[in-house]
Amino acid sequence: MNILAPSDEGLRRAAEALAAGLLVAFPTETVYGLGGDGFNRRALARIFAAKGRPRFDPLIIHIAGLDSLERIAATASLELRVRNKLDILCARLWPGPLTLILPKQPEVPDLATSGLPTVAVRFPDHRVAQRLIRLSTGAVAAPSANPFGYLSPTRAKHVQEQLGDQVAFIIDGGPCGIGVESTVLDMSAGSPRILRPGGTPRERIEEIIGAVEGPPVDPVRIFHSPGQLTSHYAPRTGLTLHRREEMIRLPYELSEAYLFFDRSSRDAWVQGPGRPCDGEPGWTETSRIHWLSEKGNLDEAAARLFDMLHELDRIGVSVIRAEWVPEAGLGAAINDRLSRAAAPTQIR
Ligand code: AMP
Ligand code: MG
Repeated sequence: MNILAPSDEGLRRAAEALAAGLLVAFPTETVYGLGGDGFNRRALARIFAAKGRPRFDPLIIHIAGLDSLERIAATASLELRVRNKLDILCARLWPGPLTLILPKQPEVPDLATSGLPTVAVRFPDHRVAQRLIRLSTGAVAAPSANPFGYLSPTRAKHVQEQLGDQVAFIIDGGPCGIGVESTVLDMSAGSPRILRPGGTPRERIEEIIGAVEGPPVDPVRIFHSPGQLTSHYAPRTGLTLHRREEMIRLPYELSEAYLFFDRSSRDAWVQGPGRPCDGEPGWTETSRIHWLSEKGNLDEAAARLFDMLHELDRIGVSVIRAEWVPEAGLGAAINDRLSRAAAPTQIR
């Protein structure tokens, strides 16, 4: 068993593995990361191999303090206007679920950035992640700890099921609080642009630095960031997406699973003709009928999204019917992940 508790001893062993160029999965506030020393090319190569991730999909370098930023990113080369925005974003939103794309320092291996002149950096808001990073070189490259294209892990057991034999250790820090990946914001090209919606709502960024561009409407056409591949974050089971009005009219099929946004949608559906009733045999199989958040709280919905999808994927249904959520706040990231989970297979 290679699962470690986040104790001093556990973290010491994990840091030793990182120093030896091995991989360690660790918790962050977004999802579990598959970590390797960001300056060690062999470790970086192992990350791509373990995930089956194409080398054109660059990694995020995780740091544990603002003092490490300059080692990774050449922020001095930014225009003053952009630099000021960067400073205020770092002060207000780090540590947190925000990844910044910045000009890279030459010391960062090209493998980490897929040969791009820019690097993705994040300071995670999770004590275990921060302690591990500080015990290492201070720069840990970590994509989500799942096979490329598959659902992201929000629990240590998800990592173990998917990549358990690829890592030296998995540090178990319990379920992830945010549950969707970081927002990726490109600061390298003049005006800030969101490349991937995520755990930091766009509204929050705009409150601080004013209007930002993106994300692109058609992720296939505009291929800035490989995380924008249409099919990504996807279960093996097919998934269809429905607006609320349509969702509550769907016929009830014993072989299908239903993922409602909130309780009121689920209740509206249950009142339709031919639905399972409390106490009926079909109804006891509630493992196929879920809501993301009983009261429609988007933060709670985000935290449960991948967990629910993992579970529905595991129980073997013919299709998962999921409901779009409201676009505000973390809703944008949830809808983004749902639409990629629903997209026809490209790379999986
Ligand atoms: P993951 O670590 O799997 O959550 O994905 C990291 C995301 O950051 C992917 O969508 C990458 O394409 C994106 N990313 C990393 N580095 C860069 C970069 N230099 N420029 C643009 N996007 C990047
Ligand atoms: Mg990922």
